Amino acid sequence: MKYFSTNRKSPCVGFKEAVLQGQPSDGGLYFPEIIPKLDENFWRDFTAKSKEEIAFQIIKPYVGEDIDEWNLARICAESVSFEFPLVRLSDKIWALELFHGPTLAFKDVGARFMSRCLQHFAEEIGKRIVVIVATSGDTGGAVANGFYGLDGIEVFVLYPKGKVSQVQEMQIAGLGGNINAVKVCGDFDECQRLVKTALGDEELRRDFYLTSANSINIARLLPQQFYYFFAYQQWEDSTLPTICVPSGNFGNLCAGLFAHFSGLPCKKFIAACNANDVIPIFLQTGQMIDKPAVKTLSNAMDIARPSNFARILELFNHDLDLLREKLEAVSISDEETVETMKKVFREFNYVLDPHGAVGFRALEQYIFKNPGAKGFFLETAHPIKFDSVRHILGDYDDNADFMTKFSFRNKQAFEIEPDYWLLKKLIRAKI
Ligand SMILES: *Cc1c(COP(=O)(O)O)cnc(C)c1O
Repeated sequence: MKYFSTNRKSPCVGFKEAVLQGQPSDGGLYFPEIIPKLDENFWRDFTAKSKEEIAFQIIKPYVGEDIDEWNLARICAESVSFEFPLVRLSDKIWALELFHGPTLAFKDVGARFMSRCLQHFAEEIGKRIVVIVATSGDTGGAVANGFYGLDGIEVFVLYPKGKVSQVQEMQIAGLGGNINAVKVCGDFDECQRLVKTALGDEELRRDFYLTSANSINIARLLPQQFYYFFAYQQWEDSTLPTICVPSGNFGNLCAGLFAHFSGLPCKKFIAACNANDVIPIFLQTGQMIDKPAVKTLSNAMDIARPSNFARILELFNHDLDLLREKLEAVSISDEETVETMKKVFREFNYVLDPHGAVGFRALEQYIFKNPGAKGFFLETAHPIKFDSVRHILGDYDDNADFMTKFSFRNKQAFEIEPDYWLLKKLIRAKI
């Protein structure tokens, strides 16, 4: 498989190059030359297939010969080694729970897949890999966990001091080993600026293979297709499902659309956004406006300009009418989010996290307008990750099982002012 840049000014590359580079130098995003179509063999005995088998068959054409089949099968199995239950809430709405991985959010799948691909390639290029990533919460935990203990890779996770939840900080700073937690006295943008500076530092690049595990990397994006197929395996209703995806950077939704273009049956996709409504406005008006990000309860989706949307436009050949046939986008306010969390807890005894609540609400609204529709929303993270849930719902049974999944070791983080030289000194001192 070849990947071209959505800006079309960088050369086409294979899977390995696309993963190692992350982003083409022209500032576009890598996009596969063709979307593979699933054949009868794939659909025969579909419900009896194992998760590992499905994952392998979905990803194989995207990887081509760049990873041998034995290793690819192993990487797939390690990326989906937990449950993805589709839970019925009402006669029309199901929740696809994507929080059963080690850091309790869907990003585990992409992070585990990417980390293992990188490790595989690291052995081939014979250079030490340094991964440096900025996080406002969920990404950091998933990346830290995904890379934890992998030989030849040293990871630096930068997060803003006092701006991530307790569980999130534990997931970043509680591991140690090859995972270096860097607490920055500043905000997320300052963390991101430090990462960008480091990635452009020629001196560091001479000595290591420097890369960022951000969500535009195809090795994080493509495996997110898997769980749409796992959901369809569990879908027993005769109505085609409408799939509602809480969206920030639109990577998760983009993966769902890839799955659909490959043959995954579904009626419609809904992008459920919070108050950051640039895409809902775009679908309505055709205008992409510039707006700063606003802070909401579903903070993993507080993104002003979703980077993966460029890939979605590419998928639909920039044909807005075609896109509107398949995709609706709505914006859900914090008030509606809180109301939904309370209502769903009351009526179904189900605890939604704020992101899942945005998804539930958007799907409910859609079904209200389209009474024949049924579907599922992606419950993208476990409610325990967000301190706000307890404030909203009071004490709920948080299923203590989840708490024991990640160990509460001592947190260890380097604390620095947002000054690049301090970060560089730290990196140098560690490797
Ligand atoms: C990252 C994240 C999202 C947004 O996913 P995108 O792929 O960026 O659209 C939604 N919910 C949670 C809990 C997340 O961590």
